[in-house]
Amino acid sequence: NAPLAEVDPEIAQVLERELDRQRGYLEMIASENFVPVSVLQSQGSVLTNKYAEGYPGRRYYGGCEEVDVAEELAIERAKALFGAEFANVQPHSGASANAAVLHAIARPGDTLLGLSLDQGGHLTHGMKINFSGRLYNIVAYGVDPETSIIDMDEVERLAVEHSPKVIIAGWSAYPRQLDFARFREIADKVGALLWVDMAHFAGLVAAGLHPSPVPYADVVSSTVHKTIGGPRSGFILTNDADIAKKINTAVFPGQQGGPLMHVIAAKATAFKLAATPEFRERQERTVRGAAILAERLSQPDVAGAGISVRSGGTDVHLVLVDLRDAAIDGKQAEDLLHEIHITVNRNAVPNDPRPPMVTSGLRIGTPALATRGFGDAEFTEVADIIALALVGGADGADFEQLRTRVASLTAAFPLYPGLAQ
Ligand code: PLP
Repeated sequence: NAPLAEVDPEIAQVLERELDRQRGYLEMIASENFVPVSVLQSQGSVLTNKYAEGYPGRRYYGGCEEVDVAEELAIERAKALFGAEFANVQPHSGASANAAVLHAIARPGDTLLGLSLDQGGHLTHGMKINFSGRLYNIVAYGVDPETSIIDMDEVERLAVEHSPKVIIAGWSAYPRQLDFARFREIADKVGALLWVDMAHFAGLVAAGLHPSPVPYADVVSSTVHKTIGGPRSGFILTNDADIAKKINTAVFPGQQGGPLMHVIAAKATAFKLAATPEFRERQERTVRGAAILAERLSQPDVAGAGISVRSGGTDVHLVLVDLRDAAIDGKQAEDLLHEIHITVNRNAVPNDPRPPMVTSGLRIGTPALATRGFGDAEFTEVADIIALALVGGADGADFEQLRTRVASLTAAFPLYPGLAQ
């Protein structure tokens, strides 16, 4: 039982250097966050040793009395947090939650209607080489080319034309709230089930800053590690007892074997924290920070000629920067920001003229920096640093000076103070 640094110094160094990287960079990947130390503790605990196939009180292994408590807590807290009657907290990830949802409510060959990947959807909503695209007949809706907003009349037209078994509402790169009531109406009109994947905006829903899909959807899936800021994993909610049964069977034994009990315990803690006033306050800073970025980066005299923000703003935790008319492409912008220690990801914009490995957009998110403590003043400073880098990318900005400005922000908001890997 020697420590990691002794047993495997190479891996110990990876952990140490990664902690340094997280501390020294501004993390603005919209799907990332920093878990609290309490969550790190569960994830690095002896619960990882335990097999617990089945569900609390109905396990296929002995010795589950303690992990049963953890899973019951996670279930009850998820239900209370989102006002749902049933919760399954076993999915290892968002993608496995989604696989279980489709396993439960559709059969291979059924038609699904979801947002296309290149317009902001997720791989599991029907991408060609993902299981969803291979097993199901996919019809995709997109966003209006002018407004970048989902055209609900088009969703309705496609639903009427194709009679999908399932309509999917949810996104990985979309800056606006969804109209769940209208999605419900369309699903009812064509006899489809409505599945909402709230992986990205679940933290905003938990904080009451985004409408909840739970009253409208037949089933809701989510991750825990994005805006919620818990362990990397997924969960599924429903108010329908029959669907709940099918979901439980689909997760285990349908999709998974033994649940990750160390992660489920960490989910319980994350859900507990998400019900606190501090969590709500953090989500408020998250949303305000994104609005500040959108506002600054859509001004040509700040961000430079040809740079704009898709849909003209945001109501969530991310901004999609449109570089179609800019001097630099998505890959160059991502690399430039990396040079000044800001981490973002390039992202295709609808009807992107550039290939997927280059793209004409950036997805910039605020959850991780809000967790770090950033407020309006810091997000304004970050927006100005990003704008200067993007403008300067074309005509040579003072990158050393921008790195210094980033360093003063990271120094003022220390990450995991006192923690050593
Ligand atoms: N659903 C949506 C909307 C997502 O954005 C993501 C992750 O990016 C997932 C599901 C999948 O989550 P995971 O990466 O945990 O499989």
